[in-house]
Amino acid sequence: MQKERTFLPQTIVSQMMQIGSTRQPFSKESCEKSSRIRNAKVVQSVCPYCAVGCSLDVYAKDGKVIDIEGNADSPINRGTLCPKGSATFQYTVNPSRLTQVLYRAPYSDHWEGKSLDWTVEQIAQRVKKARDETFVQSLPDGREVNHTLGIATLGGATLDIEENYVIKKLFGGGLGVVSIENQARI
Ligand code: SF4
Repeated sequence: MQKERTFLPQTIVSQMMQIGSTRQPFSKESCEKSSRIRNAKVVQSVCPYCAVGCSLDVYAKDGKVIDIEGNADSPINRGTLCPKGSATFQYTVNPSRLTQVLYRAPYSDHWEGKSLDWTVEQIAQRVKKARDETFVQSLPDGREVNHTLGIATLGGATLDIEENYVIKKLFGGGLGVVSIENQARI
């Protein structure tokens, strides 16, 4: 959602800087300076790091993200961010950031860039193959288990309760996966 931030007009700021001065102590350049987020487009987003879900104000100019801060209107974080969340700008605008799937084939010594379609197809095929090869319907003593010990899942801290519910339904109830784990810190 986009929202408006109000700033004091440039001329008022300049006039306030003159109060009490008989001589002009500021250069023209100083008077004309303003916050780098002035006139930036503000879009609300959510911190990517954990399931607290702190709200962010993302500032953009000319189609580029120029700053990310805590959203003061959010009832969750009231404008604050923990050290990790306050580093979201560096995480987003970073020449080292990976923007493509990297795949290393078995026994290969290098990574290859792959498309998302290719990757999703590979995951689906490999999950099916592993399940087909390891699915156990009944134990030797006859107890029905309908499970596989050949697949495991590890969730991330940004997954919310609805996503974890779907993961448990799909992997546990749907595929018979027993090892379902999450790396959440809360
Ligand atoms: S990592 Fe920090 S800022 Fe981000 S959602 Fe969690 S508590 Fe909030």
